[in-house]
Amino acid sequence: MKKTNDITANGEEMNSLIRRLYPICRSITGNGVRETLSILQETISLQMHEVPTGTNVFDWSVPKEWNIRDAYIMNSAGEKIVDFKASNLHVLNYSMPIHRKVSLAELKNHLFTLPETPDWIPYRTSYYNENWGFCIPYTTYKDISDDLYDVHIDSTLEDGHLTYGEFLVEGSDRQREVLISTHICHPSLCNDNLSGIAVAAFLARHLSQQSSLRYSYRFLFIPGTIGSITWLSLNEKNVTRINHGLVATCLGDTGRFTYKKSRRGDAEIDDVVAYVLENTGNDYKIVDFSPYGYDERQYCSPGFDLPVGCLTRTTHGEYPQYHTSADDLSFVSSGCLGESLALYREVINVLEKNRTYLNVNQKCEPQLGRRGLYKSTGGAEQEKNLQLGILWLLNMSDGKHTLLEIAQRSGLQCELLSEAACLLKDAGLLEESTS
Ligand code: ZN
Repeated sequence: MKKTNDITANGEEMNSLIRRLYPICRSITGNGVRETLSILQETISLQMHEVPTGTNVFDWSVPKEWNIRDAYIMNSAGEKIVDFKASNLHVLNYSMPIHRKVSLAELKNHLFTLPETPDWIPYRTSYYNENWGFCIPYTTYKDISDDLYDVHIDSTLEDGHLTYGEFLVEGSDRQREVLISTHICHPSLCNDNLSGIAVAAFLARHLSQQSSLRYSYRFLFIPGTIGSITWLSLNEKNVTRINHGLVATCLGDTGRFTYKKSRRGDAEIDDVVAYVLENTGNDYKIVDFSPYGYDERQYCSPGFDLPVGCLTRTTHGEYPQYHTSADDLSFVSSGCLGESLALYREVINVLEKNRTYLNVNQKCEPQLGRRGLYKSTGGAEQEKNLQLGILWLLNMSDGKHTLLEIAQRSGLQCELLSEAACLLKDAGLLEESTS
């Protein structure tokens, strides 16, 4: 994987984007999502969709919209012992409005802490069960004295909309799409999920600047679970266009890359990601599909079974900072974000090149010298490999082997085989197989 200057610059730009998005209080609905998407519109011209509360989407229905302005817990001395303004993680996400005095005993039923990491604030949600609560460091919790507390959550939970963003990069084939999906519902948390948002947005920008793409690329910026369920429900008739897909998140930490295969396990995207990871020369991990994780759960539900995998660095739950206030700006780095973007770009580069060809002259080798394709005097290493690539392509192009399969069998790089395929096509010896 080449580390180009623009990848390094992109890493820094993605980090700046994350810094801008970090303070916003997002949830599965509400103005935080709209604000996030409108900031992304400075990078890509994504379309914002609004789906009304109550819309039936398969077994679910679009929930009420949640917005929050302020929240605190105040003691009888008038001191705010917990303040939403200090961190939006302090409020149980989707808390219903409340403004009343409560005893310590009642308050404790609504407090969430992490005793194992006592300085961190946990991230908790209550989307489908109306509740209120505060998330606080255990160090704060253990010092709370007996008192009458003024609990104030200035939120609204009412009919509104579910908001999501969609961006399509049109390639030459409008009927064959690659889906890149990322969730946008977490508040001030960086690796999960701002890193995914940043990498997806910059990948989208990169692809929109390419002039000759074979596939069309559909990017979804959606609230987790309910967003993918809503999108699949509204777009059911078009999902057969999705030829390959990836769910993007957890892409800014220093851990190794992890790829969770699609439910099919033998989809082209599974092979392509494995090949690209192997070629990085770095440690990586590939795991089989399981129905636990992110939106791949919906894309890979049996009624769809789409070829969608999930490409992350350290996966959810495997780093202690996951879903806590420690997944902050210091937990993600420009270098790791840049490397993740480079990996995604390379996956797409290989997907674009992974075609199946047909040798039009299959009985014995064609006479290459006559066509200027045979260098009898030898040459530099690269030239020798190109020559080998030509021979491998001619031999394996019976319409049954993809470029990636030829790369794996020959030990030659996809990039080089693709170059050889161009030469053979120009010489009229190879055609792209359409079947
Ligand atoms: Zn999460």
